[in-house]
Amino acid sequence: MPRRIRAARTGAAPLAPGTRWAWQDAAECRDEPITLFFGPPGERAPEREVRERRAKEICATCPVRPECLDYAIARPEKYGTWGGLGEEERASERRNRTRRRGRPGRRAA
Ligand code: SF4
Repeated sequence: MPRRIRAARTGAAPLAPGTRWAWQDAAECRDEPITLFFGPPGERAPEREVRERRAKEICATCPVRPECLDYAIARPEKYGTWGGLGEEERASERRNRTRRRGRPGRRAA
């Protein structure tokens, strides 16, 4: 399990039974510092922008990006960069997926 995910779970709700973690073995971020994906409290916007851009560059080359994003949206993980998306982007994607699921004849992406 990548260090960042292990740390992100601290204080979080228990995982659902049957949660699969195998995809994390191939995570591009597994040896990256967790501080790249989770900013410190009170982080200023310019520093946050630089940090998130670097994290997203790593996500862009990650072979398990879809699995990571699906996990983070389903859980949901509210903080940090997951699957190449920041917090607000993930919240927006979560709303879009919920909306699509609600439409008859449509399948969630
Ligand atoms: S998509 Fe990004 S955050 Fe998710 S496992 Fe890959 S590198 Fe890590």
